[in-house]
Amino acid sequence: MNVLVINSGSSSIKFQMINMQTKKLMCKGLIERIGLEAGGFKYQKADNDKHYEELPIPDHKAGLKKMLETLTDETHGVIAGASEIDAVGHRIVHGGDKITESILLDDKAMAICESLIPLAPLHNPANLQGVQALKELLPQGTPHVGVFDTAFHASMPAESYIYAIPWKFYEKHGIRRFGFHGTSHQFVALRAAEILGKDIKDFNCITAHIGNGSSLTAIKGGVSVDTTLGFGTMCGVPMGTRAGDIDPAIVLHMIDELKLEAKEIHKILYKESGILGMSGISSDMRDVEAAAEEGHEHARIALDVLCHWLSKYICGLASNFERLDAIIFTAGIGECSPYVRDKVCPKLKVLGAHYNPAVNNFKAEERIISTDDSPVKIMVVPTNEELMIALDTKHLAGK
Ligand code: ADP
Repeated sequence: MNVLVINSGSSSIKFQMINMQTKKLMCKGLIERIGLEAGGFKYQKADNDKHYEELPIPDHKAGLKKMLETLTDETHGVIAGASEIDAVGHRIVHGGDKITESILLDDKAMAICESLIPLAPLHNPANLQGVQALKELLPQGTPHVGVFDTAFHASMPAESYIYAIPWKFYEKHGIRRFGFHGTSHQFVALRAAEILGKDIKDFNCITAHIGNGSSLTAIKGGVSVDTTLGFGTMCGVPMGTRAGDIDPAIVLHMIDELKLEAKEIHKILYKESGILGMSGISSDMRDVEAAAEEGHEHARIALDVLCHWLSKYICGLASNFERLDAIIFTAGIGECSPYVRDKVCPKLKVLGAHYNPAVNNFKAEERIISTDDSPVKIMVVPTNEELMIALDTKHLAGK
């Protein structure tokens, strides 16, 4: 069975074809700068046949048409025809509280997704554009499955998702904590349990997905019980360009005293804050780590602030458990920054997690970085959201 995984954003689409018998990648690519003068098409087969093309990509449908032509191309392709795509898994950011698990995207499900656009005005419309275009391009009857970033967190208890504001905002307006990066948190928790030889139903862990966007989740017996992202994707730990937790009084001060407009504040907190805002250099950790090493003070403070919030949240999330088995680092920074792990992990001793710095200096591999006798393991597990989406897609398409 071949599953095509699609992550459709507003100006770019990432795709992967996965062979579900072997669970191996067949090819992957990126359609970028959709709607701009010069679009780009990046494509790579698993055997390393890479190519890049510049061409105009006026809309999502044109980009996906180009992708299908390449997938079935005699030289670069991996399948003989579109009928060899057995199912498509679409990443969709927000399922609200109406969609709490992966679903087949029939007309009814599409209508529910559309009704959720106000919760994710930047992401859901772009996700749905990808679904619509591929439904038109692929043979009728090809199953399309939606896998939602929020769904894994639907298991959180009320104490984790209710905000302490007047009840009507929850009841009438649906304002509550949702949580994101669900497929990543779920994937690394399952994989960590497998590595440690534990039954996921009796495995308690904290997963730290630290990338451009970041969130940490407490997972009890395989289900999410608490997470750091909330109603939207701006709270919790500082991120590449997002502030993370700030006192809402700052927003009121910006409105009342600094006379800033909502749009401006959105841009400041979403695009100009976080690691970029503090360092004044870049949102990319590699640049900021290099600058800190050369003595740039704001870069060093930005790293200190990020690491402070990471250890603070890991310790806070531990209060969800009577017994904790593992703390797992994943995503770009979690996987590839020995610097960040080296600053955060010593502070986890208070939880019974004993860090072993001698085995920390590596990037993007599965490893245990705690001492052999540490009661709580500290692990690095590279995430694979696409495989998680493909597994759910296979499960639902087979029904
Ligand atoms: P996204 O949220 O966009 O999926 P990623 O999970 O790819 O993001 O993470 C991107 C982040 O990972 C960037 O800040 C990048 O600098 C960081 N990163 C990638 N490689 C390294 C590295 N070798 N050292 C430090 N940070 C890294």
